[in-house]
Amino acid sequence: MTIDETLYDVAVVGYGPTGGVLANLLGLQGLKVAVIERTRSIYPKPRGIACYPEGWRIMQVAGVGKDYIPKSTTLGGGVYTGADGEPILKFDIPPPPYDQAWHPARSIIQTELEEDIRKGIPRFKDVKELLGYSVVGLDEKDDAVTLKLRVFNEEKNANETDGEISVRTKFVVGCDGGTSAVRKLIGVKMNSLGFDEWWAAIDAYVLRDDATNHLDPDMGYLYCNPKRPGLTFPCPRNIRRWEIKLLPGENPADFSDEENGPQRCLKLVEEFGTDLDSIKLWRAAVYQLHCLVADSFASKSMRVFIAGDAAHQMPPFMGQGLVSGVRDASFLAWRLAYYLKNQQSIPPNKSNVLASYEVELKPFMTHIVGVTKFLGNIIGELDLEKAQKRDFGMREAMKSEKPSSWEDRLPNLEGGLIALGSPGAGKNFVQPWVFTADGKREMMDDTLPHPARQSFLLVGSSVDAVTEWLNEDNSAFFEQIGAQKLVCLPKDAKDGFAGSVGGVPVVREEHEFLSNFLKEKGYASVAVVRPERSYCYGTAASADQLNDLVAGLKKMLV
Ligand SMILES: Cc1cc2nc3c(=O)[nH]c(=O)nc-3n(C[C@H](O)[C@H](O)[C@H](O)COP(=O)(O)OP(=O)(O)OC[C@H]3O[C@@H](n4cnc5c(N)ncnc54)[C@H](O)[C@@H]3O)c2cc1C
Repeated sequence: MTIDETLYDVAVVGYGPTGGVLANLLGLQGLKVAVIERTRSIYPKPRGIACYPEGWRIMQVAGVGKDYIPKSTTLGGGVYTGADGEPILKFDIPPPPYDQAWHPARSIIQTELEEDIRKGIPRFKDVKELLGYSVVGLDEKDDAVTLKLRVFNEEKNANETDGEISVRTKFVVGCDGGTSAVRKLIGVKMNSLGFDEWWAAIDAYVLRDDATNHLDPDMGYLYCNPKRPGLTFPCPRNIRRWEIKLLPGENPADFSDEENGPQRCLKLVEEFGTDLDSIKLWRAAVYQLHCLVADSFASKSMRVFIAGDAAHQMPPFMGQGLVSGVRDASFLAWRLAYYLKNQQSIPPNKSNVLASYEVELKPFMTHIVGVTKFLGNIIGELDLEKAQKRDFGMREAMKSEKPSSWEDRLPNLEGGLIALGSPGAGKNFVQPWVFTADGKREMMDDTLPHPARQSFLLVGSSVDAVTEWLNEDNSAFFEQIGAQKLVCLPKDAKDGFAGSVGGVPVVREEHEFLSNFLKEKGYASVAVVRPERSYCYGTAASADQLNDLVAGLKKMLV
């Protein structure tokens, strides 16, 4: 066996979207990282077709995905239709101007976004890709973990025993998908929320305009038809995705059969009113969809974590799988860096910072997976009578409720590293468009120095609140943890827009998103934002409140 002599800080196992974003975020922190991936190429089958705002924002912090944005397309929204083919629910995905500056939900082709994520890696001399190796063994000791890797033969879909290497690392993150070897090696079980269905996913080029003449080209349709449930969404490059439930009695193996499977899948599309001469099949696959959440998100010693599909799986009805993996990556990257830079004198399982990864995300993900199951049961109902009752109930609700957006269904953080009791705690944090003193229009995060972005941020619309309110002790602590400060003046502010005050950068909001966020949180003047930048630690309306927030944070970061 060959031994890689390097002691890595983190070994990222699996180079899908979760592992790819994590490796970029860890690279930005200057850590020594090995990315271990079984296959030599990106998984080529149809998977993610929507990426949500939080995913774009995290990729913005990771410095990836930007080049892909012009290749992705906007999503107009969707319509659920009932057993009679008429609408039972509509949802919008708001067009610009967005309620925050990060990009709204966009249609993507996962394989192509993954290419873009991987393009970020050559920026880092200390991030090494080990492609074509499968993790087959894991030995956890107090100070490090040794991974056993085997050469993976893609054609045989098997590991080859004569090509083994071992890798030593301080931490391992298993981002190795639904069948995660890392999860199994640390003995973590998955809990099922009770959903196991076979669905076909079909990507086809639209050849003629009349191919989808019964469909609005910007819209998604979710056919809650008990005779054949399915859905279709537009994708970039004039491609359309169909996801179609296999019925009892249909054998999934017939649809995944290499020779005839793709054509059988394509034939299902005809059942939704599309003329097959007007589309051209690109690719198809059959998946068994599950609703699963891991019992634990880390090993007992907390030297090994799991993230993405390795930790939770859900059907794609809410478009949340990929973005949830990317969120996990953003929650873990700064925590690992924080531990390695500040806490190596204590064992990892004594670190509240590391322990809070599971505290925050297990309930959060259980909620999201539960919502996808709920949606899956709505779409996939096969009993006509139950479907008609469902349709009646949903039409009644549609009369009284405003059209909902998918993001309305996402939870807040309810525990972990947040200032419980503060109005902004655990809420999604806005990112306004701002003008810098030299007139440049930028997204707020882009005005801050790049690698330092995965740090806490004190931001507010009042110069005094940001620059004066922290007492000496808390200021020193803020400096010690590398936190940043930013004054973001309201859009109509005239004074004090000089570029910086006492070394703190000053920008001006283009709209009123930050001002409104703070106003809604008890007329707060400042927010302390967490290092992922997409969640708020807490908000304060006075110096005393802010000092209490930061004193609380100090206790939590042990
Ligand atoms: C039909 C369909 C539609 C979907 N639509 C959406 C959508 O619209 N939006 C959305 O957000 N999500 C969607 N998803 C979900 C999304 O595709 C997944 O959640 C996402 O790919 C998970 O990313 P990951 O990086 O965690 O895992 P994966 O992408 O599965 O990556 C895991 C990687 O680990 C590697 N690996 C496995 N075992 C080992 C080992 N032992 N050693 C080394 N490497 C290993 C694998 O080769 C793989 O590259 C969809 C999924 C499906 C099936």
